[in-house]
Amino acid sequence: MYIGHFAPAFVAAGTSPEAPRLGTLFVAAQLVDLAFFSFAIFGVEHMRVVPGITAMNPMDLYDMPYTHSLLGAALWGLGFGVIVWTALRSLTAGIWAALVVVSHWFVDLLVHRPDLTLAGEPPKLGFGLWDWPMVAIPLELALTGAAFWFYLRNTRGPVGPPLILFGVMLLFQAINWFGPQPTVYGIEMPLTALFSYAVLIALARWVGTTRRHRRAAGLAMGGYRR
Ligand SMILES: [Zn+2]
Repeated sequence: MYIGHFAPAFVAAGTSPEAPRLGTLFVAAQLVDLAFFSFAIFGVEHMRVVPGITAMNPMDLYDMPYTHSLLGAALWGLGFGVIVWTALRSLTAGIWAALVVVSHWFVDLLVHRPDLTLAGEPPKLGFGLWDWPMVAIPLELALTGAAFWFYLRNTRGPVGPPLILFGVMLLFQAINWFGPQPTVYGIEMPLTALFSYAVLIALARWVGTTRRHRRAAGLAMGGYRR
């Protein structure tokens, strides 16, 4: 998944006034991919391109034990959670951040071919929805759209910034789905992915400064508003 990973970030921000701001949650949602694509550049983890390996994209993600194992994701979540806990002095914020980091593995589990592990060794897991575009595409749109709607409903602020963010997310997703697919692996693949995440994180950071959770906003105005 691509934008589907941001659904848990929207859900966290919409659920709890104590969750970190949206920019931090967007980092959390893609932390293990940020790590994976960085590791791929430096040869710590590996991918290659095998045209046709799935119907929707040609990525053969054959070596990613530190980022896309459940144990690895849990450790990245723990580390990021502790950083957020310390920085915001809120254990609740840290727990939300950690949960969103770990959610990445479970969202990937739906669409990846069996290339995910529990702790770096086989068995390799993945339900393979990337071979079923007529299921994977509506599922990702529904998941992300519903979470975005939930976030809008539960936060207060101008509606322009989140709509711009969501528009750019849909644009990047469309390029990801329908743009030209690489036939050989090159460093431009991880660089493009990292660049696209950086743009979305920067936009989410901006959105997070313009909106507050409705319960926090209500308190600031002297009482709860339902
Ligand atoms: Zn991933």
